[in-house]
Amino acid sequence: MKPVVIIGAGQAGSQAAVSLRQFGWKGGIILIGEENYAPYQRPPLSKKFLEGDLPFERLLLKPETYYQTSEIGLRKSVRVEAINPEEKTVSLSNGEVVEFSSAIIATGTTPRRLPDDEIDGAFYLRSVADSLALQDRIVDGAKIVVIGAGYIGLEVAATARKRGASVTVIEAAPRIMARVTGDFISGYIQQYHEKQGVEFRMPHIVNELMSENGKLISCKLDNGDEIDADIAVIGIGVLPCDELAASASIECDNGIKVDENCRTNQPDIYAAGDCTNHYNEHFAVQVRLESVHNAIEQGKTAAAAIVGDEKPYRQAPWFWSDQFDLKIQSVGINAGHDDVFAFEDPEKNAVSAFYFKNEALLAVDAINRPADYLAVRKLLQDKVPISRADIETANGDLKTLLSKKPS
Ligand code: NAP
Repeated sequence: MKPVVIIGAGQAGSQAAVSLRQFGWKGGIILIGEENYAPYQRPPLSKKFLEGDLPFERLLLKPETYYQTSEIGLRKSVRVEAINPEEKTVSLSNGEVVEFSSAIIATGTTPRRLPDDEIDGAFYLRSVADSLALQDRIVDGAKIVVIGAGYIGLEVAATARKRGASVTVIEAAPRIMARVTGDFISGYIQQYHEKQGVEFRMPHIVNELMSENGKLISCKLDNGDEIDADIAVIGIGVLPCDELAASASIECDNGIKVDENCRTNQPDIYAAGDCTNHYNEHFAVQVRLESVHNAIEQGKTAAAAIVGDEKPYRQAPWFWSDQFDLKIQSVGINAGHDDVFAFEDPEKNAVSAFYFKNEALLAVDAINRPADYLAVRKLLQDKVPISRADIETANGDLKTLLSKKPS
């Protein structure tokens, strides 16, 4: 039997390999990654690992020996250059051609880049190598400009302040984290950062990274202001790595189009994780999700389909972020909400914002209120209809809603 070839050894690809074995796949598995590391977790790269508090071994998703004992052929430092869907082969950067019975594309995303960014002091944060390089430069007294107030930017801002650096965040939108959260939570998190000494300049974009002798000296804004910088950390979003799929005639539209079993339009070729775009039946939206949860669940789903035991992916997505001592947990998709109800507990720096559309609960952002997050996650997953009145009546104790029945 020809092996399953998994292209990309990140969270989705490694989960697919692990799940194939768990679900009883007896044939070969080849897991191909372009980094020189066994699969590792990325979320700590902008948090605990960047703080210097975590050894690299703690990031590994499995010990290296796991891949040998599970007979998973982990191939590091090699790229897949092409997929041939007719011959069912992949061509590697070392010249090898590998046959497959099924393939899973789990190529993830790549950072959006600023023009003319090849200067000392301009950083992106995607890999362990990026995080290690940044660790050396985020030091007490350093002047750091963070470009983009999304997850990367704000987590790096918090870590840098903890390490004694001065931090200015520049954001193109009029508020922070606008892609993922509502006005109220944006304002709450921004104020919290400001109390810790982070400065914000928005809405502004950086027109130019100014340098002298190839070294960054400042960031020039669209209004002409220049902000001195020892380093700039650029977190202005990501693009799906779907070129390999597109050149193999696999349908892509802001990511690789997959069905609820992670199948692409090419027979025996699947895709999973941040590089995919799927119809989420829970929220009736076509979406590309950038989250660990989505990567894990789609990895499992692709593996299940390959062994012939389909487990369609139908989930309410969840996300989290740690910034200073704020634990931010979100579940659901708040796009198109027409009402928000917020519950605040100032003594605990805790707040939850509940999002509704047509009087039905869509999502929650819970800050230091894990019970709200857990309750809404269960309610959304079980499709229990929840109104604003239900949330108001629960008065901060959502456990009372868990006995409600699905519609
Ligand atoms: P992001 O969350 O999309 O945020 C990027 C922000 O940068 C947006 O607010 C964007 O505004 C802004 N922006 C775009 N161009 C800009 C410019 N030229 N100048 C200033 N601001 C600009 O992306 P990210 O923070 O780069 O994160 C990258 C990936 O890492 C995502 O997949 C994210 O989910 C993942 N990540 C997740 C976590 C977590 O879940 N806790 C943590 C770290 C990273 P517009 O929207 O207006 O363009």
